[in-house]
Amino acid sequence: MRIAVLGAGIVGLACAAELLRAGHDVRVFDPAPASGATHAAAGMLSPAGEAWHGEENLLRLGVESAGLWPEYAAWLESASGVDVDHRRAGTLLAGRDHDDVQVVRRTLDLLAAHGIEYEELRQRDLREREPELSTRVCGGAYLPGDHSVNPRRVSAALLALLGDRVEHRNAAPSTTPSPLLAPGEDRPASVEGVRTEDGRLVRADAVLVATGHQLPPQVPQRRHVRPVRGEILRVRPPSGQAPTQTIRALVHGEPVYAVPRAGGEVVVGATQEEHAGDPMPTVGGVARLLDAARTLLPGLERAEILEVLARHRPGTPDNGPMLGPTGVHGLYLAAGHHRGGVLLAPVTARILRAHIESGSPDAANAFSPSRFDTSERMSRWTSLSTAN
Ligand SMILES: Cc1cc2nc3c(=O)[nH]c(=O)nc-3n(C[C@H](O)[C@H](O)[C@H](O)COP(=O)(O)OP(=O)(O)OC[C@H]3O[C@@H](n4cnc5c(N)ncnc54)[C@H](O)[C@@H]3O)c2cc1C
Repeated sequence: MRIAVLGAGIVGLACAAELLRAGHDVRVFDPAPASGATHAAAGMLSPAGEAWHGEENLLRLGVESAGLWPEYAAWLESASGVDVDHRRAGTLLAGRDHDDVQVVRRTLDLLAAHGIEYEELRQRDLREREPELSTRVCGGAYLPGDHSVNPRRVSAALLALLGDRVEHRNAAPSTTPSPLLAPGEDRPASVEGVRTEDGRLVRADAVLVATGHQLPPQVPQRRHVRPVRGEILRVRPPSGQAPTQTIRALVHGEPVYAVPRAGGEVVVGATQEEHAGDPMPTVGGVARLLDAARTLLPGLERAEILEVLARHRPGTPDNGPMLGPTGVHGLYLAAGHHRGGVLLAPVTARILRAHIESGSPDAANAFSPSRFDTSERMSRWTSLSTAN
């Protein structure tokens, strides 16, 4: 099949590489590949650390994708020659005060209910696992299954695999109207390819939209994705003072994480805020992160600041991604990965490949792009029936 992919963030790239590996004729369009949320991401593969009540489907999807990562990282490295800095030391959850530890315990209850492995730790055990942690941390847990990669290296590896199949241009799906629109039907019938910013039509049998927080108008589910700003820093502590594993913590209610990277660097993140417009870092956001981070890891006090940046996560109403057919024949969506696009990239690529190869016009599943349309229809119906 001829398949056009719009967006070369980690999601679009992973899907494109999977489709290429399956023998399809793939072209990718992006004016600035891997410069969106992917560029800012810390790279935690952390389904357990991200687990939250009400997001059980997302937890299951995350666990599935985390299980794919070891083989995926090995394949990427051998096929591209790029080391993606895949770290399997596990993740520590930590709470600075007793209220913070209560929140950690809530997460552990959820993990227990789902059979996910963890080890609850007292203050002394935490510091044995990570001597860089402050003596004032009250307690926490060890999550052996939560790993990390460097997303910039992952996207560099994927870009190397895709080579000149990636065109540095904006594009939008090109659709043809339905010859016979049913009454009330306002959606175009099918996609014929993509139209690039210079007006060229590139024909394709299927178009996959993976443009992060900004979906083109041709996607019926466009309004369900919104920008959620995240601010993040890259720092280099003095030699020997970087943590040896990922730490996710609450410091007097303020969430913060520190993710070690190759070369002694540490990523400190991240804020989360509803925001439109350019995603610039703010004084308040960065100050909160730094305060929490150096309370957690006193060795960061003398760290050099290498980079401060902000990007938009693609948020959805239930924090889950939208994966699959859009209702326009041949037009597929892989967007709305919010806080977990790096974690979810391998499973997303598999799911989208299955949808595109089967050509099914719709799919009823927890991450179907049409799930919010259904809930909108239901709430309209409920309000009508209540009014009556
Ligand atoms: C601060 C921060 C920390 C994060 N940490 C983690 C983490 O530790 N673990 C994790 O799993 N996730 C993390 N995330 C979330 C993760 O980064 C996102 O879920 C993921 O990057 C989304 O990938 P994407 O490919 O959908 O979007 P993006 O990476 O934003 O890529 C979208 C691409 O589409 C392109 N594009 C837009 N419009 C068009 C168009 N019309 N035509 C062609 N191309 C277009 C853009 O140029 C861009 O390159 C973090 C996010 C942030 C902001």
